[in-house]
Amino acid sequence: MNLVLLGAPGAGKGTQAKRIEENFHVLQLSTGDMLRAEVRSGSPRGQQADALMKAGRLVPDEMIVGMIDRRLDRDDCRGGFILDGFPRTLAQASALDEMLAKKGLKLDTVLSIDVDDEAMVERISGRLTCANCGEGYHDSFKRPKIEGICDVCGASRFVRRADDNAETVRARLKEYHAQTEPIIAYYDKGGLVRRIDGMRSIDQVTAQVTSALKECVRAG
Ligand code: ADP
Ligand code: ADP
Ligand code: ZN
Repeated sequence: MNLVLLGAPGAGKGTQAKRIEENFHVLQLSTGDMLRAEVRSGSPRGQQADALMKAGRLVPDEMIVGMIDRRLDRDDCRGGFILDGFPRTLAQASALDEMLAKKGLKLDTVLSIDVDDEAMVERISGRLTCANCGEGYHDSFKRPKIEGICDVCGASRFVRRADDNAETVRARLKEYHAQTEPIIAYYDKGGLVRRIDGMRSIDQVTAQVTSALKECVRAG
């Protein structure tokens, strides 16, 4: 199963992608994670991306499209993949269609996780991640079971993303509404979109996602 996860910054794409990986054995491909790895590597591409990400702006389509094109050729994508954070512009969506056709692949569904703007700001400003294993947490909505200790790996250091601050969030929301939201209508034309109410709790969102994907598997 090949799917796209659409949703505003902080909607819960990464959180749900991890659960879909486990429940449906498909691979999460997060363009945000790929870009953050580029930034850490200090490559020229990473340096270019870093400045744009810190400003809450999207990186150029060509950079992202090339990254995904190469990534999809690797063997670990054969069993299915979740595109988390891509496409984010109409140009990326049509580039994806072209590249999938060339590779003999197709999308089975597009899940759109819908949340309102206030919730996004609240979710982003409370987001933190285990520095060791990358498990995601939230100051109010998903605290570790034991204060200060990662549930998954037991580490005790947590990090926040440089772009998860009040100013950058506003720029990211603007980019989302202007550039990314129109993609929902694009995929709607192909009848691919399943809407998910992202305002519910993490577990309730997972339940909706799971039933949507089961339906998709049944529909074949
Ligand atoms: P995205 O990948 O869409 O940017 P994340 O999955 O990183 O979003 O979620 C953003 C933050 O909100 C994280 O701190 C996460 O723990 C929290 N979160 C995710 N889904 C929900 C939810 N349904 N209700 C409350 N908080 C959530
Ligand atoms: P979010 O939690 O906002 O959904 P991501 O981790 O997906 O964040 O992305 C972080 C940043 O990386 C974005 O604000 C943008 O600068 C850049 N980025 C990620 N994916 C893309 C993409 N498909 N096109 C352009 N820029 C992207
Ligand atoms: Zn951990």
